[in-house]
Amino acid sequence: MARSVWVDREECISCGLCVSLLPEVFRFEGGKSDAYAPTGAPEEKIQECVDGCPVGAIHWKD
Ligand code: SF4
Repeated sequence: MARSVWVDREECISCGLCVSLLPEVFRFEGGKSDAYAPTGAPEEKIQECVDGCPVGAIHWKD
């Protein structure tokens, strides 16, 4: 099964990186990123967002 991610909305600073890199997974909801399609891209693509988020707000679900 594909791994799934979530965004900690308390941590998100709305920089837009994940939303612009992977609009098929992340979108802004109420000004913060939301992983509306948490398995919507290959893991390595999502990992780029996990690594690139400046505040580490994107997390894998166990
Ligand atoms: S990369 Fe991180 S801080 Fe930037 S919008 Fe996405 S979750 Fe928020």
